[in-house]
Amino acid sequence: MPEYRIPKDDVIRAAISRVFQTRHEVPSQRALKRLVEREVRGSENFRVGGARVRRLVIDSGLVGVEIHARESEEKKGLTRCPVCGERVKKLKNMTVFGGTVTLGFKCPRCGYWSGLRRRIPTRYVFRRR
Ligand SMILES: [Zn+2]
Repeated sequence: MPEYRIPKDDVIRAAISRVFQTRHEVPSQRALKRLVEREVRGSENFRVGGARVRRLVIDSGLVGVEIHARESEEKKGLTRCPVCGERVKKLKNMTVFGGTVTLGFKCPRCGYWSGLRRRIPTRYVFRRR
């Protein structure tokens, strides 16, 4: 069985910034994960989770993320962003009766948004800012 090590956040952050020194754009999370693993790897095999890389990339502020998504049938409230984990804001509208109605949700950090029918992310494109 091959052995894999899990690198620390700082090591992944450094690898991310090296990846984007030579590239303007990475077309998918899978591609980004491979590039980061290649940068981190020395004599040992490192494995990083795709979602972890995505979150660290968004946290870095160096890279913008374009989110492709499909709409699901599921109608459920949302509190945390499925892309970056930040608390989402409710998008509200006034009703004629003087109350408000929730139209959807938006993440203030990465730009993910959803209507009441949940938008499920299907692909990410990462671009250097
Ligand atoms: Zn987000």
